[in-house]
Amino acid sequence: MNTSLDAKVVLVTGASSGIGRATARALSKAGARVAVGGRRADRLASLAREASGEMLVLEMDVTDARSVRDAVAATVERFGALDVVVNNAGVMLSGAILGADITEWTRMVETNLLGSMYTVHAALPHLLASKGTVVQISSTSGRISSAASGAYAATKFGITAFSEALRQEVTEQGVRVVVIEPGFVSTELTSHITDPAMQAAANSMAESMRTLDPDDIAAAVLYAVTQPDHVAVNEILIRPTDQTR
Ligand code: NDP
Repeated sequence: MNTSLDAKVVLVTGASSGIGRATARALSKAGARVAVGGRRADRLASLAREASGEMLVLEMDVTDARSVRDAVAATVERFGALDVVVNNAGVMLSGAILGADITEWTRMVETNLLGSMYTVHAALPHLLASKGTVVQISSTSGRISSAASGAYAATKFGITAFSEALRQEVTEQGVRVVVIEPGFVSTELTSHITDPAMQAAANSMAESMRTLDPDDIAAAVLYAVTQPDHVAVNEILIRPTDQTR
């Protein structure tokens, strides 16, 4: 028996492209009212125009705690509750540790880790009220670190650490915590890498395999958030079949 998403209220961060966009569409199609957040408001507006269900566009920057608080407040004001948060906004700026541009580390920590923590912090009172669900988009890099992804992996390991503490704190109050760990998904994520060698490596990795599609991850999110109340799907690891590590 699956539970319905009909009229449930969902907030997806980083919904302007890739996994976030696909997830917002999938949850909207399943009947949810979806607030879509990100910095590129034009992209979010076109997503909302194309959606069959009701969507609220929220221009937000997850590195700014106030912006996150305002986005959560606007969602609750518009829809009256908050049932699911998909904590998805992220950047991956791959590169070796030696000689790294440490402003890229700051950007990743502020976006992937702190941004996700701010979102949980702002949303939690509402999720406790609705016995809702937090979906944390981590990565295979949140389980296995590898050369040239140290800082990115540190943010994703951080998400896992935070999520387990969160789970222990709120599960008895009916709030479920789901960590999703995708392997290689074809999105804009690698386009922001500044190191030319790393960019080339990402491109050749993409060409070497049948990568995942953002809809594959959206389907996993939909599965996790439509389980009966007593079922907590705490972790989902999804790699392309062709991906070895
Ligand atoms: P995209 O680059 O397509 O999407 C990233 C999203 O994050 C965009 O919507 C972007 O919106 C948003 N974002 C980035 N910075 C901020 C910010 N400061 N404030 C608000 N939103 C922000 O990549 P993906 O869809 O691949 O990435 C989504 C998540 O999935 C990330 O957390 C990533 O680490 C994770 N992931 C991706 C994998 C992959 O192979 N693609 C594998 C494993 C995990 P905007 O620029 O409009 O603000």
